[in-house]
Amino acid sequence: VDEPIHDAVLGGAAARGDAPALVDGVAGTTLSYAGLDRFHRKVAAGLADAGVRKGDVVALHSPNTIAYPVAFYGATRAGASVTTVHPLSTPQEFARQLRDAGADWIVTITPFVEAARAAAELAGGVREIFVCDPAGDSGHRSLMDMLGTEAPEPRVAIDPAQDVAALPYSSGTTGTPKGVMLTHRNIATNLAQLQPVLPTGPGDRILAVLPFFHIYGLTALMNGPLRQGSTVVVLPRFDLDTFLAAIEKHRITHLYVAPPIVLALAKHPAVEGYDLSSLRHVISAAAPLDGELARACGSRLGLPPVGQAYGMTELSPGTHVVPYDAKNPPPGAVGRLVPSTEMRIVSLDDPAKDVAPGEPGEVLIRGPQVMKGYLGRPDATADMIDPDGWLHTGDVGHVDEDGWLFVVDRVKELIKYKGFQVAPADLEAVLLTHEGIADAAVIGVPDDDGNEVPKAFVVRADPALGAADVLTYVAERVAPYKKIRRVAFIEGVPRAASGKILRRELREI
Ligand code: ATP
Ligand code: MG
Repeated sequence: VDEPIHDAVLGGAAARGDAPALVDGVAGTTLSYAGLDRFHRKVAAGLADAGVRKGDVVALHSPNTIAYPVAFYGATRAGASVTTVHPLSTPQEFARQLRDAGADWIVTITPFVEAARAAAELAGGVREIFVCDPAGDSGHRSLMDMLGTEAPEPRVAIDPAQDVAALPYSSGTTGTPKGVMLTHRNIATNLAQLQPVLPTGPGDRILAVLPFFHIYGLTALMNGPLRQGSTVVVLPRFDLDTFLAAIEKHRITHLYVAPPIVLALAKHPAVEGYDLSSLRHVISAAAPLDGELARACGSRLGLPPVGQAYGMTELSPGTHVVPYDAKNPPPGAVGRLVPSTEMRIVSLDDPAKDVAPGEPGEVLIRGPQVMKGYLGRPDATADMIDPDGWLHTGDVGHVDEDGWLFVVDRVKELIKYKGFQVAPADLEAVLLTHEGIADAAVIGVPDDDGNEVPKAFVVRADPALGAADVLTYVAERVAPYKKIRRVAFIEGVPRAASGKILRRELREI
């Protein structure tokens, strides 16, 4: 795995020739493996010709398109680090990331050029904006023109252990997103760790509906499948009908999704209208998924329960997966540890003490996929990674005798009720089993006695559902200390692009 990321992923691409690497899920345009190999080299040459040098930071600002990997690997081959940007960032948010990352260049697509230009002006320091669009008539240099370049391919010496390939930002669920320095080795190692347990190959078709800019999409939907020779069918955003139609039309075999999509697949009436029989594997990650929902989704699709994976941006990202060939994994498990990685679960009261199997504690990870650090934040890095190299995930979990990990929730989200700890994810799972509830989220709020109590935000599927129904339903199913004590009805649960509930937005309601 000690090779640059573009070689780790595309080393075998030229030999795959006309096999389809990427397909636009709506327009149907296809990019072959040979094309992907040739084009990303041309883009590397064009970027180098334009002045991109080793160590520069390229901000990639685009929804999922078939050109996304061309730009990404083209930039890394030119020696740059790529910071991936949410395409719908406001100019202010985008400018903050440009400044924080020290970005020198932007790659965007035609419809977003104005936002990119505004952000570059606010941030300062950006040398040029490139557009990656065939219809790119924005006055900016087009990546498509680079495909005809005569410039020589740059020969950049990359040190996989030290050089930063990607600078994704964490989701910002618990605070401001942080720039995460992932080296070529971090990412390539994690790909090699995940491949044996989540094997795909030529002939498999993966639907990329989660965004490439987030580490989960980048790895599960782009790096991994392209390294293994599968076909990635690309959708620019999630829309349930487009998503279902794409599964049917492209005979999708593998889905990597987040819990809200599992929920839709399990509950939404629209699912009945499509032929989803091509699906063989569905994996969920990024947020807690209840075992019962995983089973309900699988059985509606004629499959075993939806499997899970667990990770975080700082871990490149995966440390646990339920292998495709696992026989009867326990319901709710996020997976088993990947090779060459160590885990400890330590007491929440005394972090020096490991807990016994089955006991909950904070999950610590050590291994070659642990990030180099947060960019420009040595203090935050030191808070996260201790001197012995253990990364403190901030997640509460427990592990059984067979090594299956269960993630309860984040340490910071646990609701402290009269000395007990209540996990919002547990209560959300109970709420979602109610027929009249389409979606739900739980946070802790203060009550008059100075306690923190669980409050549910509920999206109704049944307009007649009342607060008393919700309170009673949950009270009948959980220990008394866990009871929901407040209810509000809302139109939709606020979520990050990666599918996580934005609990801080609920706190502001
Ligand atoms: P920030 O660190 O900026 O607050 P974030 O932690 O949401 O944002 P990510 O790196 O995208 O940013 O997410 C990692 C987190 O996602 C993990 O720490 C964990 O809380 C959660 N997570 C990932 N996979 C799972 C899973 N299978 N089950 C439960 N939680 C998961
Ligand atoms: Mg985090």
